[in-house]
Amino acid sequence: MSVDIDSVVVGAGVVGLAVARALAMSGREVIVVEAFEGIGTGISSRNSEVIHAGIYYPGGSLKAQLCVEGRQRLYAYCDERRVSYQRLGKLIVATDETQHTDLQRLLEQGRRNGVDDLQWLDATQARALEPALSCVAALWSPSTGIIDSHGLMLALQGDAQTHGASLVFHTPLLSARCTEQGFELQMGGAEPLTLSCRELINCAGLSAPEVASRIVGLPAQHVPTARLCKGSYFSFSGRAPFRHLVYPAPESAGLGVHMTLDLGGQARFGPDVEWVDTVDYHVDPARADGFYEAIRRYWPGLPDHSLQPAYSGIRPKISGPNESAADFRLSGPAEHGLPGLVNLFGIESPGLTSCLALAEHVMKQLA
Ligand SMILES: Cc1cc2nc3c(=O)[nH]c(=O)nc-3n(C[C@H](O)[C@H](O)[C@H](O)COP(=O)(O)OP(=O)(O)OC[C@H]3O[C@@H](n4cnc5c(N)ncnc54)[C@H](O)[C@@H]3O)c2cc1C
Repeated sequence: MSVDIDSVVVGAGVVGLAVARALAMSGREVIVVEAFEGIGTGISSRNSEVIHAGIYYPGGSLKAQLCVEGRQRLYAYCDERRVSYQRLGKLIVATDETQHTDLQRLLEQGRRNGVDDLQWLDATQARALEPALSCVAALWSPSTGIIDSHGLMLALQGDAQTHGASLVFHTPLLSARCTEQGFELQMGGAEPLTLSCRELINCAGLSAPEVASRIVGLPAQHVPTARLCKGSYFSFSGRAPFRHLVYPAPESAGLGVHMTLDLGGQARFGPDVEWVDTVDYHVDPARADGFYEAIRRYWPGLPDHSLQPAYSGIRPKISGPNESAADFRLSGPAEHGLPGLVNLFGIESPGLTSCLALAEHVMKQLA
């Protein structure tokens, strides 16, 4: 079967759905093609579900810009579409004097990024908020929250479909070829499908570099190498020790093993950092040792045997372990010269927070 359409979005994660919504709301005919059986089977269902404030990212980066903008849009969208969230606030803690400077740097970075509600707390003030906490100082971020990420994806899908978008599942993009009018796509699945489209937006998450490498006519220098960085989570069996989110001073490839709460109030810890070569979501129970050690730096009261392996996610990085963290890379016509094509590479955290802002950015690149 062969179909002509304005826009094809590859991937029905939170970013693909937000992009499909924006495209459909602009009046385009849109199809979302998804390799698996439903929405959000990738990393959009394997994260901390935190609405980030925008503190950590280098000034002027897309991560900083789209996180701050995305967070504001996301809270407004959740109110409008009744997606569950809680603006719990978070503490980033220094557990010894050497981390004091790290925290000071974060405070300045956050303020430069436009996060204007950060507060410096001394140990007494931090413990007044969280009595079980051990720290020498903390940053208080009141605009950090948690969200029902699946509820968000359902709302985005609903908006996209209301504006005429279609979603097809079990339909992996196998290859694409640039034509005079746009792109010709070969799809796999039970019934092989050929799609012709003017615009192709690659939101394939971990597979985005692989999908881009299958676009005949896109020079290889515009396709980064995928680097996989796994993060495992452990759930805590008892009553949650804190009422707010608690993060340590950040590590090199992640934000450190932090405590988040789900919307039911259950505590979980993670993600840690493990560079891997293949996508395997199994959580190795032996990693618990590293968790006990990391968590007890800020919560000495963590009881023995209270952590259980929960789930894991894999960060879709485009920079390796010994490189500085790469920014989001939205590779559009200005970079590669092919009208109508946008590849979204390296959409790791804060991609969930930034999804609506990422979609707007894609629209600008297509304009
Ligand atoms: C451990 C971890 C913790 C995180 N915590 C947070 C957080 O607290 N807050 C935050 O803002 N962000 C967080 N993030 C980042 C956030 O989860 C991602 O940025 C976001 O989910 C990316 O969404 P996506 O749609 O790009 O990718 P995905 O959700 O992975 O979607 C990609 C989709 O493309 C499909 N696909 C792949 N190949 C093909 C193909 N050939 N054809 C068709 N379909 C294809 C996949 O099946 C998948 O459904 C975290 C990420 C990780 C890994």
